[in-house]
Amino acid sequence: MLESQIAAVKSYLSQPKKIVIVVHKNPDGDAIGSGLGLKHFLQKQNHDVNLIVPNEYPKFLKWVPGNKDIVNYEWENGKSKGLIQTADLIFTLDFNHFSRTGAMQTDLEKASADFIMIDHHQQPDDYAKVTYSDVSMSSTCEMVYNFIEALDGLPAIDEAIASCLYTGIMTDTGSFKFASTTSRTHRVVADLIDKGAKNTLIHQSVFDSNSFSRLQLLGIALNNLTVNEDLRTAYTFLSQDELNKHSFSKGDTEGFVNYGLTLENVIFAVIFIENKDENIIKISFRSIGDFSVNEFARAHFNGGGHNNAAGGRSDDNLQKTIDKFVALLPQYKEQLTK
Ligand code: 5GP
Ligand code: MN
Repeated sequence: MLESQIAAVKSYLSQPKKIVIVVHKNPDGDAIGSGLGLKHFLQKQNHDVNLIVPNEYPKFLKWVPGNKDIVNYEWENGKSKGLIQTADLIFTLDFNHFSRTGAMQTDLEKASADFIMIDHHQQPDDYAKVTYSDVSMSSTCEMVYNFIEALDGLPAIDEAIASCLYTGIMTDTGSFKFASTTSRTHRVVADLIDKGAKNTLIHQSVFDSNSFSRLQLLGIALNNLTVNEDLRTAYTFLSQDELNKHSFSKGDTEGFVNYGLTLENVIFAVIFIENKDENIIKISFRSIGDFSVNEFARAHFNGGGHNNAAGGRSDDNLQKTIDKFVALLPQYKEQLTK
């Protein structure tokens, strides 16, 4: 963070404030971990803090310390709107454009509070008084650690805060293996373990909590996999029927897209997931190396994200969406095979 940003934040936080923290729709480990980690920290500085999520998040995050106090915008709509309207200060974490919060967008646009953004996605919007944006960061959780450090707050990191931040760094780095993982990331994580994060337990809670039906659903996704060896691409899909047959619940498909990338020589992996409630196809894109799935998702599927992990959506049906994708691939031949 810049010195001027640190000074501005210190000034905002010099008196007890009514603070709201908001994360993106379909919150993941980094959103929940950074949101709750920052909430615990700010509460220790005597602020009144609420974390609002736009909608439900996966079961494998329900153990994260402070989980019970999260306000769900869909289920507690009046309360959420009231909190946003009366907030002095709003932190937006792990996203950089109001549209990423779904139906909350209009409430955020109307809010009179000043905003502070902490985020590691590309192309931040300019709604915040303090924009701490760094696309080189492994995770928003690593940035919240930096933020706390900038406020001379590291001694305040207790087991709860450490567990929250560890969770998001772990999930956003694919368990410390993605290219965004640096020696600094490992140093931060080491400090979080020293401060009480129970690393083995956190890995088990997040990754070893599968239901039988989720594993069966993974089987379907693997069975649906198509590999284009020439273009080093693997893609798969799950229809709403397939999801229903395996008692799909939020978060069940998390990580499925990564299996395509474990194939030797494949550098681009995609999963298309039908959502008949919202009448869209949700798409996840992953890559290894220089091929930017952020640019691909932005250009063709109304999405975005990071160079190696991005999301998008399509209003066409499942088959049409996949056909469109397959037809686009040849024009990327040079980038995919260089
Ligand atoms: P996932 O595929 O896990 O949903 O998302 C991968 C990454 O892309 C995440 O960092 C997420 O924030 C971002 N992302 C997912 N969906 C969208 C989208 O519709 N628009 C934008 N701009 N980013 C997205
Ligand atoms: Mn993130």
